Amino acid sequence: MFHDQADCGPLAGHMHTLAQHLDRFLRFEHADAMHEPERWRSALGGTLPEQGIGIERVLGEMGEFLIPAGSQIPNPACTAFITTGATSIGALATLAGAVAAPQRLGLTAFQHLEELSLDWIAEMFELPAGMKGLYSSGGSVANLVALGGARQWAMEQRGIDPARDGMRLPARIYATAASHHTIQRAAAVLGLGRAAVVLVDSDAMGRMRPDALRRQLRADAAGHVVRVAVVANAGTTSTGAIDLLRELGRAAREHGVWFHVDGAYGLPGMLDARVRPLYDGLELADSVVVDPHKWLGAPVGIGATFVRDRGILHRAFTQEASDYLEGACATDGACHSMDSLGIPYSDFGVELSAPCRGAVVWALIREIGREGLRERVCRHNSMARLVAERAAAHPQLELVQAPTLSICCFRFVSEAWPDSNTLNQRIHRALVHRGRNIPSTAVIDGKLAIRPCFIGARTEERHARALVDEVIEIGNGLLEERTKLPAVHALATLSGRI
Ligand SMILES: *Cc1c(COP(=O)(O)O)cnc(C)c1O
Repeated sequence: MFHDQADCGPLAGHMHTLAQHLDRFLRFEHADAMHEPERWRSALGGTLPEQGIGIERVLGEMGEFLIPAGSQIPNPACTAFITTGATSIGALATLAGAVAAPQRLGLTAFQHLEELSLDWIAEMFELPAGMKGLYSSGGSVANLVALGGARQWAMEQRGIDPARDGMRLPARIYATAASHHTIQRAAAVLGLGRAAVVLVDSDAMGRMRPDALRRQLRADAAGHVVRVAVVANAGTTSTGAIDLLRELGRAAREHGVWFHVDGAYGLPGMLDARVRPLYDGLELADSVVVDPHKWLGAPVGIGATFVRDRGILHRAFTQEASDYLEGACATDGACHSMDSLGIPYSDFGVELSAPCRGAVVWALIREIGREGLRERVCRHNSMARLVAERAAAHPQLELVQAPTLSICCFRFVSEAWPDSNTLNQRIHRALVHRGRNIPSTAVIDGKLAIRPCFIGARTEERHARALVDEVIEIGNGLLEERTKLPAVHALATLSGRI
C-alpha cells in the first residue's frame, strides 16, 4: 500500500491511451495552440490542486487539452530554426530510460550504451582517433564543456588551475559573427567574459578568414592575454556554412591554441559525399560538438562534446569529494551494478543527475544504421539544393545564399515592392499563420530571407516544393493587394469629397 496515491503500477494500459493521443497529434489535423488558448488555459487549471484526480483523469486532460495544444516543431512542414521532433524510437528509448535507468551512473547496460553510442558517433563522423565523449543537454552545454576544457588546458600551460583558482589573466576566444551565441555565453559562464570573444573577419559566405585569424593570433601572441580557443563552425546556424577547417586548424596549431569545432547542427552533413571534402581538417580538432537532437532525430535534450583527453574535462569540472558518496562503492572487483558508479561522466561536465541519453542515441543508430542516416542527410541536403535551383530559376525569387548543407536562404522579389525586407517579413508571417509550411527567416548582409532548414526525419522533398510554391503564391497575393490598395484609397477619398 502506498501512502500517497500515485499510480506506480503497470504502464501498458496507460501507454496505449497516451500513444493514441500522440498518434492523433502526429496527424497534425488539430488547430494551432494559439487558435483558442483560453480553452486549454482554463481546462488545465490555474490553482494548486488540494486533492489529486488520479492518473486516468490526468491522462484524459493530457489527451484533450495538453497534447493538441503542443508545438509545431515536430510537424514535418516545420523547417524553422534548427530543431525537429523525435522519431518514434527516440521517444520510446527516452521512456525506457526514464523507467529502467533514471540515472546514467552504475554498471548497467544503459551506461554501457552511453560510452558505446558516443564511440559510434565519433566513428560515424570521423572524429580524430581516440576522441572520447560526454553527453549533455544540448549544443549550449556541449560548447560550454568543450570551452571549459580549452580554458583548463590553456591556463595549465601557464601553471594555473583555473577550475580551482579562477581566471587570473584576461583571455580570448576567436569566433565569427556567424558563430552561435552560446559561445559568448560559455565565455561568460567560464569567467572569461563575453567580451573575451573576438569576432574574426569572415568571407561572403560567413566563413572565418584564415588570414584574419592568423593576424589576430599573432597580434595577441605578444601580450599577456591567454588565447583560449579558436572556434570553427561545421555548419553555421544561419546558413549552414562550413569554415575552412584545415586552414583554421593549422593556424591554431601553429600558435598552440585549442581548436574547437562546433558541429551541433552540421557535423552529420559529412555523411553526404557531395560535401564530405568540406570537413577535411576535422582531424586537427581538439574538441568537437554535435547535437543528436538535431539531425539524428533524438528528443530535445541531447548534445555531445568530444575531446582528445577526458582527463582535461575531469580537471576542469571535477567536484570535491562528497561525504555521502564516500564508501558507497566496492573497492575491489565489481559484481553488482551498484558496486561502482562506472565512468565518472558527472566529473566531465556540469551535470550530476542526468538521464541515460546514450540509450536513445544507440536506439536511433541501431534502428536505421549509418546508411539510414546518410540517406536522411542526403535527402535534406538535396532539398535545400532543389529550393536553390527553383529560387535561381524563378523571376520572382532570389537565391540569397547558396546552400552548403540543408539550409537554403531565398526571398521573393518584385519591382512593384522595392522594400524586399518588409515584403518577405509579411510573406513569412503569412506562411506561419496559414501553417502549411513553417520556415524561419535570417538576415544575410542586410537581406531578410526565408530560411528553411530541413532536418526532420518526417520531412520529405514534397515539403520543399510546397514551401517554394506557397512563397510565390503569398508573394503574388500581397502584390495584388497592394496594387488594388491605391484604387480603394482613391475611391475612399473621392467619396469623402462627395
Ligand atoms: C543549435 C546550435 C547550438 C546550440 O545548441 P542547443 O542544442 O540549442 O543548445 C550551438 N551551435 C550551433 C552551431 C547550433 O546549430
